[in-house]
Amino acid sequence: MTKNVAIIGAGFSGAVIAHQLAKAGYQVEVFESRSHIAGNCHSERDAETNVMVHIYGPHIFHTDNERVWKFVNEFSEFKPYVNRVKAITNNRVYTLPINLLTINQFFNKTLRPAEAQEFLAEQGDKTIENPVTFEDQALRFVGRDLYEAFFKTYTVKQWGLDPTELPASILKRLPVRFNYDDNYFSHKYQGMPKDGYTAIVEKILDVPGITVHLNTPFKPEQKSDYAHVFYSGPIDAWFGHREGRLPYRTLDFEVHRDQGDYQGNAVINYCDNAQRYTRITEHKHFSPWEQHEGTVCYFEYSRQCEEGDTPYYPIRLARDKVQLEKYVNLANDEPNVTFIGRLGTYRYLDMDVTIDEALKTADKFLECANEKAQMPAFVINPLG
Ligand code: UDP
Repeated sequence: MTKNVAIIGAGFSGAVIAHQLAKAGYQVEVFESRSHIAGNCHSERDAETNVMVHIYGPHIFHTDNERVWKFVNEFSEFKPYVNRVKAITNNRVYTLPINLLTINQFFNKTLRPAEAQEFLAEQGDKTIENPVTFEDQALRFVGRDLYEAFFKTYTVKQWGLDPTELPASILKRLPVRFNYDDNYFSHKYQGMPKDGYTAIVEKILDVPGITVHLNTPFKPEQKSDYAHVFYSGPIDAWFGHREGRLPYRTLDFEVHRDQGDYQGNAVINYCDNAQRYTRITEHKHFSPWEQHEGTVCYFEYSRQCEEGDTPYYPIRLARDKVQLEKYVNLANDEPNVTFIGRLGTYRYLDMDVTIDEALKTADKFLECANEKAQMPAFVINPLG
């Protein structure tokens, strides 16, 4: 039997597994249907301005995971970068995540931390003991005024659903702070790869034993040519969508090129209905160590993902999970294929989690090979 392994998709999931297996002596073929590697993290220099652009929208690297941080730093220098998001609502500019400045400006107060904490507790709806929905979570912890100004409309624009239909977990991504720290993330490590994300993935894939095929879709029937397949495409696509299409949101970007500084910050969110876009990303602010006269901005619009669109955010409502479960059952009956990453497991994943799971998946594969055990369809339970 051949020792070759096929990896479908050259995003972080596929590239990290390819790297680990090639280093362990496997011959690995990576099949990527797009014309480039790095998946939705792909970045490239804009031909007109030379600005490094995150082609599929803003990606900021942040993690608490030592193994992941050490791993990515082997392949790129990370420049210090702290994401500080601004939000526009009712024609005024605030800082996000909600912090002491947001609270004081929004309510026209000069509260100190403990006072603000008490004030926000009064705003919150204490009758909601166990927040289940996005709206519950917001009403419980920040109260109706902040919820309506910053979250309600943005969320409808982003997800196409009322926040009463969405899980609390989406809002739990954002902290609420009672100090003036406006760092969007609370992780120990944060930074931007000096030469962009595609350069990192290129280095991760640059190991003897790895062959990358671009513009090459992989058909499930080809799996018999390989000892094992790692699949990072959409799980429903592997099974020909036989249980229906799992719903995603997709994004459209309207590109605006200009001179100088267009908005003075990398990301500004538009939280009310005055604009249809959710946010504007000005990419050159992600590389503050570079100088550029021109600038490139992405106006970001979210909509339902249709056939032929690029899937971005898995929606994962309760009914979607019922459909997902059918695919998970099919996958568990499919020998020699492991489903990985955001699309393979239909989960909303940050880059660091993706890399951590890919490292663990490679560990598991090598362990199974050692013990002559069957590699499972999932190393991380997609329904968890
Ligand atoms: N969100 C919001 N208003 C904002 C920013 C975020 O309502 O100004 C909500 C929205 O539902 C979003 C979620 O919080 O999908 C998570 O935000 P995050 O910034 O993590 O989203 P991402 O950058 O992954 O799109």
